[in-house]
Amino acid sequence: MSDHYQFLVIGGGSAGYSGASTAAGLGLKTAVIDGGPEVGGLCILRGCMPSKTLLESGHRALAIREAHEFGLRADYRGPDGLAIRNRKRRLIGEFADYRRGQLTSGRFDFIRGRAQFIDANTVDVQLFDGGSRRITADAFLVATGSVIAGPKIEGLDESGYWDSDEALDSDTLPSSVCILGGGAIALECASY
Ligand SMILES: Cc1cc2nc3c(=O)[nH]c(=O)nc-3n(C[C@H](O)[C@H](O)[C@H](O)COP(=O)(O)OP(=O)(O)OC[C@H]3O[C@@H](n4cnc5c(N)ncnc54)[C@H](O)[C@@H]3O)c2cc1C
Repeated sequence: MSDHYQFLVIGGGSAGYSGASTAAGLGLKTAVIDGGPEVGGLCILRGCMPSKTLLESGHRALAIREAHEFGLRADYRGPDGLAIRNRKRRLIGEFADYRRGQLTSGRFDFIRGRAQFIDANTVDVQLFDGGSRRITADAFLVATGSVIAGPKIEGLDESGYWDSDEALDSDTLPSSVCILGGGAIALECASY
């Protein structure tokens, strides 16, 4: 693999993949460096996709609970948290496999490792399979995503709480829940 690219993307999530696809499509010599423990990015692994699988389970539970309104006899016997989580894991596994295929299809180079800038046109990459590489580029797309930031609320740490990663991967459902926040993710969790 070359050590100089016209376009170098740091981060192999949705933004990084999309940017690399566009650049490669325009004929630029492109690479993506991804340092996540799993390939797929937030949307597939812990964001959009898993939250929609849970929402769908919630929608279907509601339909069963309200079946009598529509002249249907149905007994709602509650959620099976383990089955809901297993379905979610299976589906995101399929999406992640698909994304892995897109990233390794050969349209651009895909490098597994953590990048850090040395100067405006150079990164050092700690490779996952050992060693390091120094890579230069004409232009960079920094698409390194985000990390969960626990809110600074007095007493919160002591009380114990779930963040969205934990809520999306739990195999149990609490009997009641208070959602802190009123953004899109909070509303999805509340709807579920
Ligand atoms: C519960 C939930 C539901 C959501 N639902 C939706 C939705 O319905 N619709 C929507 O549009 N958005 C949704 N989002 C938001 C969406 O998931 C994110 O905005 C999007 O996935 C961010 O993509 P990204 O490519 O910017 O970052 P990421 O997918 O986080 O990718 C960044 C990658 O860069 C890697 N990286 C970081 N630092 C380095 C480094 N130094 N070197 C190499 N690699 C590095 C990371 O490990 C990671 O693999 C949701 C988010 C959550 C949490």
